Amino acid sequence: MSLNRIIILGGGFGGIAAVRALKGCDAEVLLLDRRNHHIFQPLLYQVATAVLAPSEVAAPLRQLAQEQPNLSVMMGEVTGVDLAAKIVRLKAPGLPERRLAFDYLVVATGARPSYFGHDEFAAYAPSLKTLADAEAIRARVLSAYEFAEQTDDLEERSRALTFVLVGGGATGVELAASIAQMARITMRCNFRRIDAADTRILLLEGGKRILANFDESLSRKAALRLEKLGVTVRTGVVVEVVDERGVFASGERIESATVLWTAGVQASPIVKMLDTTTDRAGRACVGPFLSLADHSNVFVVGDAAAFIQADRPLPGVAQVAIQQGRYVGKRIAGEIRKRRPDSRPFEYFDRGNMAVVGKNFAVLERGRIRTSGFATWLLWAFLHVMFLPQLQNRLRVQMQWLWSYFSGQRSSRLIPEPLNAKPEQVVSKVGKL
Ligand SMILES: Cc1cc2nc3c(=O)[nH]c(=O)nc-3n(C[C@H](O)[C@H](O)[C@H](O)COP(=O)(O)OP(=O)(O)OC[C@H]3O[C@@H](n4cnc5c(N)ncnc54)[C@H](O)[C@@H]3O)c2cc1C
Repeated sequence: MSLNRIIILGGGFGGIAAVRALKGCDAEVLLLDRRNHHIFQPLLYQVATAVLAPSEVAAPLRQLAQEQPNLSVMMGEVTGVDLAAKIVRLKAPGLPERRLAFDYLVVATGARPSYFGHDEFAAYAPSLKTLADAEAIRARVLSAYEFAEQTDDLEERSRALTFVLVGGGATGVELAASIAQMARITMRCNFRRIDAADTRILLLEGGKRILANFDESLSRKAALRLEKLGVTVRTGVVVEVVDERGVFASGERIESATVLWTAGVQASPIVKMLDTTTDRAGRACVGPFLSLADHSNVFVVGDAAAFIQADRPLPGVAQVAIQQGRYVGKRIAGEIRKRRPDSRPFEYFDRGNMAVVGKNFAVLERGRIRTSGFATWLLWAFLHVMFLPQLQNRLRVQMQWLWSYFSGQRSSRLIPEPLNAKPEQVVSKVGKL
């Protein structure tokens, strides 16, 4: 009798948790991802602001195969899913498209940034999702200072030193605070013609308050902390236009060379291929066992799934993806061992929600517990180091943080040269702000 084949789409938090739960299962497990690495997204903003190097927040997926003999990893773009025929189509670089048959399918392809129907904004306002995004943002931010240092045009200088972040969720708050500290501490006295402390950082939020998924008291504290760091927080602001000159928001033109998009996400387009009911964010509406209504062998987890608990959809956070991936992996392993089907539906256990607002300050909400300040920041740092993939990353990140904490320096302040660039091309790229 041939082995069951379980295909897992996506090596993010949900996919990896499912893979690990299938360790030792008498089945063939295939993990498919367009990247060859897992990204620890909660620390991506530190790559974008030069605190950490890309390799410190990522880990090769193939290493999982070393630890798990029943696992094969395949890099490629998932281009199609046929649930009736139980087939996934995969296009690997340089190879013709392949058709892979499955007995069980776990869709963990996450989410992508949403520009709320204005995809044209993406050309001017990059978002943060991949290592390439983080490196591009880092280059853009650092290039803005290089341009400001050399231009004689005072209006252009002011535009270069104005950073606008659209979206006051955790990513917007964390990025804004980190840029502010880089400007005021790391880059102090680094320039001769400009003062990096003159940097203007505006955080624009469409809702009534930033960090809307936290209690109001914590949102207020985070906003106060941001103001103290020199970030201007504006709430209830609707961004109508984003173009090469900056943004037009609630009737006001804001001239800025660097606009960053930190608002909203929508589910990965793979969900559409499942031909199932979705919510407004394009997430698959899954049942109590995280499977699709008409396909008990097809599961959707993490940011791609809309799971209702206590009358509300679960948030798109790493803990949800991890717990769902683990649950589905165990469920499939149980079925394959021909155990009695587990009748317990998935239940999310909320371990709390955290956001960091620069050095020495974080907010935490867990049930009725709400804390903020230095001790919370220490806890944030400890937990993030603990959850990083790979021991070597944990050690390297600790070293970088210690160095950065005491010296104020950031070791990844690099603007990469374009491939095979001649010197004049580099100059024109920096000048094209
Ligand atoms: C900048 C940022 C900061 C965040 N900070 C936090 C935080 O502090 N705390 C927190 O709890 N959560 C945070 N999140 C959210 C958290 O990262 C997500 O909820 C979590 O990653 C969801 O896990 P997932 O497995 O569903 O998807 P992901 O982790 O996004 O993984 C999806 C995987 O699918 C692959 N994939 C997608 N489409 C295809 C395709 N067509 N073919 C092949 N492969 C494909 C991708 O390459 C990726 O590896 C943050 C997210 C971002 C972007």
